[in-house]
Amino acid sequence: MSDVDDTDAQGPDGPADLPGRLNGPPTGSDQPEQRRVAIPTGRELVARIPLLGLLLERTEAAGLALDGVYLVGGAVRDAILAGDGLPTPVFDLDLAVEGAASETFAELLAAAIGGEVIAEHRFGTATVLAVLVQGAPPVRIDVAACRTETYAEPGALPEVTLGATIAEDLARRDFTANAVAVALAADADGNHLVVDPYNGMIDIFTRLLRGIHDQTFHDDPTRIMRLARYSGRLRFPVEPATRELAVEAVAAGAIQTISADRMRQELELILEEAAWDPLTLLAAWGVLDTLDARLEESFRLPFLVMRIDEATAGDVDLSRRVWKMRLGALTIGLGDDVIGWLRWLGFPGDVIAEVDGHVRLLRFVRDQGDDLLTLANSDLYLELGEVVDDSFALAALAEDEQPRFARLDAYRIALRDTALTLRGEDVMAAGIAGGPEVGRILGTLFLRALDGELPTPEAERAALGELVAQSKAGGSDEADAGTSAP
Ligand code: ATP
Repeated sequence: MSDVDDTDAQGPDGPADLPGRLNGPPTGSDQPEQRRVAIPTGRELVARIPLLGLLLERTEAAGLALDGVYLVGGAVRDAILAGDGLPTPVFDLDLAVEGAASETFAELLAAAIGGEVIAEHRFGTATVLAVLVQGAPPVRIDVAACRTETYAEPGALPEVTLGATIAEDLARRDFTANAVAVALAADADGNHLVVDPYNGMIDIFTRLLRGIHDQTFHDDPTRIMRLARYSGRLRFPVEPATRELAVEAVAAGAIQTISADRMRQELELILEEAAWDPLTLLAAWGVLDTLDARLEESFRLPFLVMRIDEATAGDVDLSRRVWKMRLGALTIGLGDDVIGWLRWLGFPGDVIAEVDGHVRLLRFVRDQGDDLLTLANSDLYLELGEVVDDSFALAALAEDEQPRFARLDAYRIALRDTALTLRGEDVMAAGIAGGPEVGRILGTLFLRALDGELPTPEAERAALGELVAQSKAGGSDEADAGTSAP
């Protein structure tokens, strides 16, 4: 094992500590009150990730050698960010294994820690799932062989060569903050080597997102989406040259080279973030305009955007649930083209239906203005049909005027509470032979019930009697109301 001191892992010129940022800008080294933040050692980083500690205990007990195995990516970044004494809430671990035998290592790891290999993917990667804390959800451990990647053209899948060193593997990563690795094997003193060829630790401390090289967005334009996502989530500004490269890549058409499938995945991840900020960045860099200029209409809804953020308020679980509401807010400018756009990106049918429902309600409420107050529940039903609760929640967040908000809520409650006691059999028993006329009569009854005109089963029956009589007498306007019971 290497005897490199962890604090030297910054590279020969890297400082061992940095001016503290939390207490304002640096004031000069002659100022005794200035606080300095020590760069954590590998041992300290490992101690900040309790799940990793458990994994190491089990591999040690099982005698599994960990030479050439490194923790990389988000877990390391978040552990550096966490600061002293704050365990990092990590659930996923990304391991990079030097040499090409990552699948063999995944099997050995699973056996050592009492987990299982749930997936072996192409290109030397495998996923191990293991319960490390009794009663807690399993930890997902992605194991990948260190590799080099070359890109034939922008947006294309890379040419992958396995069997690389950790330094080579870090060279293919997106941002310096994601390109820090910690060796799982400890040296004789219990230290863990930190490999940080791009001074990612310093960028994390100074809160900057920086690309690893000038071709980064050219090679893989999805990194533009990742840049926005991390900048929004971590609240790290983008380093100016990196921002310039991203904007140039967008202007040169990089976004158009991303497949619909990857774009959907990236958009979904962005919408699951706890705030709207990544979308603001994508708008500023010209990405939304490239996708469809009408998407920028959502930025005329600052109240809505702010309130969705407030409603989710950093609650990641909640924002996972409401990502479709965000997608509705994003696509409001697309109007009738929402369905086509979401289909083009390959969203599943149920998601498309829900988001389209959000957009239709938002637009309807906005277009109606105060006329909304004069509409009966049955008018709203004929216009909007069934409306899911999240659509109401979204429209309520968008609605500023108390009376309109109250009107929408009354409709929500009426929809929730209205159910006819009569069924198709009852309509036929009352003298209708069957077929579409049964549905039309039930639909008319439902509209009346929504408007509160049929508060009891008796009232329903009386109304049924009238409608059957009208139908037999040659049809009625009401029975042709154009809806059928839900
Ligand atoms: P989080 O899970 O918190 O979003 P993460 O960094 O673990 O962060 P992943 O998407 O799981 O995110 O990626 C793991 C690591 O793989 C990243 O930290 C980065 O080093 C690398 N990586 C992922 N996608 C890319 C990409 N498109 N280009 C370059 N490197 C990437």
